[in-house]
Amino acid sequence: MISLIIPCHDEADNIAALHERVCAVMNEIGEPWEMLCVNDGSRDDTLERLLALHREDPRVVVIDFSRKFGKEAALTAGLDHACGDAAIPLDADLQDPPELIPELLAKWREGFEVVNAVRITRDGESWFKRSSAHLFYRVINRLSNVDIPPDTGDFRLISRPALEALKQLPERRRFMKGLFAWVGFRSANVYYHREPRHAGKTKWNYWRLWNFAVEGITSFSQVPLQLASYLGFTVSFLALLYAAWLIIQTLVYGNSVKGYPSMMVTLLFLGGIQLMALGVIGEYLGRIYEESKQRPVYLVRQTWGNGLGAVCPPQDPLGAGLSHGREHG
Ligand code: UDP
Ligand code: MG
Repeated sequence: MISLIIPCHDEADNIAALHERVCAVMNEIGEPWEMLCVNDGSRDDTLERLLALHREDPRVVVIDFSRKFGKEAALTAGLDHACGDAAIPLDADLQDPPELIPELLAKWREGFEVVNAVRITRDGESWFKRSSAHLFYRVINRLSNVDIPPDTGDFRLISRPALEALKQLPERRRFMKGLFAWVGFRSANVYYHREPRHAGKTKWNYWRLWNFAVEGITSFSQVPLQLASYLGFTVSFLALLYAAWLIIQTLVYGNSVKGYPSMMVTLLFLGGIQLMALGVIGEYLGRIYEESKQRPVYLVRQTWGNGLGAVCPPQDPLGAGLSHGREHG
């Protein structure tokens, strides 16, 4: 069985179209499948439309969050609830074409445990977004030990062994791209052209993307923490040289009480660096604090259906996230 995982936040106008295209593709393949739609606190009638689809087609499973927890949490919930031998996260806005699924499955049957869908082009996205994304992948791969494949979104195939590994990762702050890469396994790539959104508009503005990038870097790299100390060392060393120069100058030319500008510059510069280093520590400290609270990644208000031929155990009533101990038959 194949589990498709669809995070939905305000996607009312896309769901029917998505279901139609998924059906066309999956009927062709002829394997049993389920479509797990995670409603991430939508404010429009996404949930009603999902439920209507579920009544029509029991392969549509609906997981409704108690509020908006974000895309990463929605993906986590989908992966936790997936019963398939392989799971494929898909965006609800049809930017990840379901028509690519047969190619993903073909690679999986060749024996790859993870199949990444890599975008060759990204239509409908600005030059700035594309180049900042490119820069992000370069920076994060330099700074961290995991190799996060560039130009790969969450659209990929994850086979059961990789999925089980993923479910063991306990962190609350979930940078999924990084986690997918971190678990490793034999992986292959499949290439596609990313289409513009079907309807509605993106929920990612640049501020959120920036935070997403910070999240990724702090989750997978400690280089910024080390950077602060290296910067401190460098500046102290330069200050030492400057002090030596000042002493020599005073000895040779005597002391004329000048140097207010240079003092201010040094003061401000050092102050700035100290604040920056504190900020970096703060970023990590905040994350440690959040992890230490051990709150679940998401809370499920209600679920409808659990797939045809389901081998899943009954859902736990709270549906609390991180119920990693669950067995799939
Ligand atoms: N999404 C979500 N929660 C959020 C933001 C987005 O579940 O807080 C879902 C959204 O419904 C869509 C997918 O994540 O299915 C990708 O979102 P979007 O198209 O806005 O992002 P982009 O394609 O611009 O990166
Ligand atoms: Mg999109």
